[in-house]
Amino acid sequence: MQGYIVHITKAKEEDLIVHILTETKLKTAYRFYGARHSVIHAGYKIDFEPHYSTKSSLPQLREVLHLGHRWNASRERMLLWQRFIALFYPHLKDIESLETFYLELLDWCAVRWEKQNPKRIALEAYVKLLAHEGRLHEDFRCFVCDLPLGEKVVLSRGFLLAHPACVYQEGMPRPRVEHLLSEGSALHLDDAHVELLWRTLLEGL
Ligand SMILES: [Zn+2]
Repeated sequence: MQGYIVHITKAKEEDLIVHILTETKLKTAYRFYGARHSVIHAGYKIDFEPHYSTKSSLPQLREVLHLGHRWNASRERMLLWQRFIALFYPHLKDIESLETFYLELLDWCAVRWEKQNPKRIALEAYVKLLAHEGRLHEDFRCFVCDLPLGEKVVLSRGFLLAHPACVYQEGMPRPRVEHLLSEGSALHLDDAHVELLWRTLLEGL
């Protein structure tokens, strides 16, 4: 079984509870501490076998193989990846079974993470996610006052659209936002806007 480690919590002593986004579900497994075990980190893509026993409700995480990407060794890219992938845990943790979309989306990001600006990839992935979940708002009405938007718009958490005055934030030129939402491309955004939207994204999916 393969998946991405989206969240790790400490259990007793050095043991860990590991949450892995696989093709069909967010899987939870128990990792006993062992000096001979390979080190695992949030963000890693792993191949693993869950071992079930009658003693515990959680399967044990064993035979872990790290399916590394070259950029895993780049501290900066890895830290951005860990922040991005951590968003998927609260978003999906109560969902019984997942569509393959989520694993495929992370794979799509992972192959691009080395060469492109990771924050832009994350924004493009988020537009894909919103479209998949039917949450992409392209009607260009303000979610606060429900009136049509003008030439400057704000993308709030969840990429909800708003008038700058309604959410007390500086707006972005509307054509850039339109391009991002309709084409799913962040290429035309300048670095300041990318940074702004990345911070919005970090508020939660
Ligand atoms: Zn408004």
